[in-house]
Amino acid sequence: MENMTSYIKEFIGREKSRDYYPELISGLAALNKEYHAFNVINDRLEAKNSFPFSTKANICVKGFETNAGSKMLEGYVPPFNATVVEKLLRHGNFSFLGVTNMDEFGFGTFGTHTEVPARNAFDKEYAAGGSSSGAAVATALLKYHVAVAESTGGSIAAPAALNGVVGFTPTYGAVSRYGLIDYANSLDKIGVMARSGEDAKAAFDIIKGRDDYDTTCAIGKINNNRKKKLFVVKELIEKTDPKIRSAFERLLDKFSDDYEVKEISVGILGNSLAPYYIIAMAEASTNLAKYNGYKYGLQYGELNKRYNEFFTEARVNFGTEAKRRIILGTFIRSESVKEKYYTKALMIRRLIIKEMDKVLRDGYIISPTLPIPTPKISDVEKLTPMQNYAMDIFTIPPNLGGFPHITFPYEYLNGMPIGAQLVAEQANDYALLDFVSEWEKGFEYKYKHNLGSI
Ligand code: GLN
Repeated sequence: MENMTSYIKEFIGREKSRDYYPELISGLAALNKEYHAFNVINDRLEAKNSFPFSTKANICVKGFETNAGSKMLEGYVPPFNATVVEKLLRHGNFSFLGVTNMDEFGFGTFGTHTEVPARNAFDKEYAAGGSSSGAAVATALLKYHVAVAESTGGSIAAPAALNGVVGFTPTYGAVSRYGLIDYANSLDKIGVMARSGEDAKAAFDIIKGRDDYDTTCAIGKINNNRKKKLFVVKELIEKTDPKIRSAFERLLDKFSDDYEVKEISVGILGNSLAPYYIIAMAEASTNLAKYNGYKYGLQYGELNKRYNEFFTEARVNFGTEAKRRIILGTFIRSESVKEKYYTKALMIRRLIIKEMDKVLRDGYIISPTLPIPTPKISDVEKLTPMQNYAMDIFTIPPNLGGFPHITFPYEYLNGMPIGAQLVAEQANDYALLDFVSEWEKGFEYKYKHNLGSI
């Protein structure tokens, strides 16, 4: 029975054998050969009764290769810690276990846009989800562990749902982004994955809060305003696979005693994909411009080449999806079309925030996390870019608006977990975490692996 509410408390309070950590590391190294959850495992781990945490490969950890899943940053070892890492280490009860796999620079929904994709913890044939693929797989493999991950448009929610763990994306600006390798600055948020709502809350409590190094980290008090209504947005739910739809209906039935469940129409939410991808690509192309093999990025070294030749050759190290986004993002920002795409996308984004704000003042928005059951890796590879982007319909609206959201498992469909997503108004993060802790009282988590059990 996996219904412990706090693995952190349980772990800290228990005696461990002297060999616990070395055995954990060797067991993890063996399992990782099959699942590729970790890019780096900290075999220098000297944990004295402290709880292991991992970081997504775009969060800088001093002394460990942090390459954002890209060949362009291969071999980059940061000389400093991201604020979130510093906070966890200073807390004293946490120790760094390793760097987790991800889609290159965060570009993806299934974890397949990287050299060696992570594999779903429930079945290796299936996609791990992305872009924080390794973080979710690690959480589903290890009994005692929390993952620090990041979301731009759904990268915590999607993989957490596909691996049956809790994935929490805080309000934009609640957690410092200092030391994060940016994808799209106006959207990026650092959050956590855990095996329970309470553990996600404990980790969030440590990493949240103002930081002199990040002026966008400016949310003051985090609230806990419980709501009694659950809204289902018609324009989004319509686009769901029938199997997921009926499972989701069963979930809503379970909530119908305690909540008023209501279907509503919010037309503009049916149009969130385009503005998101326009803004995300525009910002990504700006952020990636610096990786040119000269000062930043894999050093190209052929300094006698002509200007165009040098940068063209150095930048072949980007993967296909990164190149696609650099080209589209640069196009979107160009003088002749920027009004047509970029400025319009910003306007739609403002409207989406306004509409969601209105709804979220009154209740939560609930939906499946993904519109389809877990796909096989081989099927993901057949998706066109547009089909791929369409998988983000539920996760993009809250990300676009900087609204906190949480995903939690609620059923196992043919042995694979499926997740639901709950969205709250800005700064109401605690209400979501407590909602999940409440849900867990009547739900039995299932895992294939429990590495590190005591
Ligand atoms: N799938 C989305 C994208 O590719 C979200 C990724 C993310 O949140 N980093 O942009």
